[in-house]
Amino acid sequence: MHVAAQLIDGKALSQGVRDKIAQEAASLFARSGIKPGLAAILVGDDPASHLYVKNKEKACEAVGIYVADHKLPASTTQEELLTLIDKVNRDPQIHGILVQLPLPKQIDSKVVLNAVSPDKDADGFHPYNIGRLVEGNPVFEACTPKGVIKMIESTGIGIEGKRAVVLGRSNIVGKPVALMLLHRNATVTVCHSKTKDLPAVCREAEILVVAIGKPKFVTADMVREGAVVVDVGVNRGADGKFVGDVDFEPVSAKASWISPVPGGVGPMTIAMLLQNTLESAQRAARATGGH
Ligand code: NAP
Repeated sequence: MHVAAQLIDGKALSQGVRDKIAQEAASLFARSGIKPGLAAILVGDDPASHLYVKNKEKACEAVGIYVADHKLPASTTQEELLTLIDKVNRDPQIHGILVQLPLPKQIDSKVVLNAVSPDKDADGFHPYNIGRLVEGNPVFEACTPKGVIKMIESTGIGIEGKRAVVLGRSNIVGKPVALMLLHRNATVTVCHSKTKDLPAVCREAEILVVAIGKPKFVTADMVREGAVVVDVGVNRGADGKFVGDVDFEPVSAKASWISPVPGGVGPMTIAMLLQNTLESAQRAARATGGH
């Protein structure tokens, strides 16, 4: 008889990561006088974006990361935003820059993300950092994919040699997750909207990462007995509650490990933003001889 899956508890895991970051930030400050700093840039009035940024800022402050908060009106021009990015790029107090997406339509987000210094690219979206990831020699890794990997590693199943299937191929989730799994020696298949017989491909997965943005899309018949399932999806249900891309109850009767929504990838994503900012500050300290 199969016992129900164990939970990959992103909330508990992220708390452990945050505690360690708080210690390391304090010790960095003690030996170098450098306090990690994040510039959080938010343009417009999207309530969900405001909530995300508020949560990220609170999490920073709780671990001793300085936050420079930049809230700009929805009418902000691309030039104005680029001027601000240039300023924070050169500010020695700032080690990470977060530009909350989506940006208003008069602004080309590609141009803006490319303007963020690759040395402060805490979200890991700059083409330089994506290139470093492709090469297998990453500097800043995108927060959500990095969190997904930590969650899989936390199960202790070992990634090397496993059959991994990533459902979704976006630049911010699917593709980087696939690369990170590949660099850890999994055999990786990436699926998307044109994949034929998707359920059969998913059933091969010993590790299944789902990031498509379709509520409860992955059903139990698509999951191999004993698989590790990480659900990246965040979808708001008719009742206002968040649901993932995986049909949690039936799938958890088949999987060996499964991450919930909420309380899974979300909190780990925030923890990885803090981690990236800390690591950047540590690199800055080394570069200035302050260890
Ligand atoms: P996205 O850019 O919309 O990409 C979705 C991907 O899923 C695409 O590659 C698409 O294929 C594929 N897809 C869509 N419908 C499909 C179907 N029926 N069958 C097979 N593949 C299908 O989404 P994203 O930005 O990667 O985000 C995915 C989900 O993760 C969303 O729910 C988002 O809210 C969530 N998310 C959560 C976090 C977090 O911190 N928890 C962070 C980022 C994203 P094509 O390429 O062929 O179109």
